[in-house]
This record gives sequence, C-alpha cells and structure tokens, in this order.
Amino acid sequence: MLQSSRAVYRELTALWQQAVRDPTSLSGVVAAVYGRVKHYFFGKQLRDGIWVVVGKEKEYIVEPDEGVCTCPDSFFRVLSGEKCYCYHLHAVKVAWVLGSFQVVVEQENRLVMCLLEWLT
Ligand SMILES: [Zn+2]
Repeated sequence: MLQSSRAVYRELTALWQQAVRDPTSLSGVVAAVYGRVKHYFFGKQLRDGIWVVVGKEKEYIVEPDEGVCTCPDSFFRVLSGEKCYCYHLHAVKVAWVLGSFQVVVEQENRLVMCLLEWLT
C-alpha cells in the first residue's frame, strides 16, 4: 500500500511522539532503525508472510494485525493487560512505515523448521 508523503510524515510523527513518552516504543524504534525486523515468505504458503523481530535473546513472531507477539513480555504483560504492546510489535509498525524491514524468501519446506526455531 502506497501512502502519500504527508500521511507517512503524520504516521512517523505520531510514532516518534509515542517513543519519546514510552521506553517500550523507543526500543521498537531502535529495533526498526537498526534493521532487526524481517518479513519472511515461504513460497505459496502464508501469502501474507510472517513478521519476525530479532529480540535481545531470540527471534519472535509478531502478528501486527492482531497486536500479538510470541515474546515473554507480550505473554505475561500484554495479555494480562499490564501493557498495551511489546516493543517487537512497535518495531514492526515503525519498520513498515519506514520501509526498514528485510524481506526474506525461504523455500516452502523450510516453514516448519523456522516455526519450530521461533517458537521453542
Ligand atoms: Zn514481543
């Protein structure tokens, strides 16, 4: 989806203002700017791809449309209502706006292995 430069500017401004107020958002901006967001595609499977953020200890799957992530912070604090989101989710949003994510195309038969790696 192409956005006008004005819309991108408004979105970036909102994301930056959020980052200034909230350390979780700032960590997301840093992750996005440093290229730690990847968008994986596996042939014809999962045509929308899988968003993955390289975290401090491992890689986590992020589903931005659902607002969920596989990291412990999301599991313990977001699902309990203590926080609204983890920094990985914010990183995907920032990377999407900036176009600062890496596209990774894998063979279809690598899907299960990658999922096992990310989820264990
Ligand atoms: Zn997370």
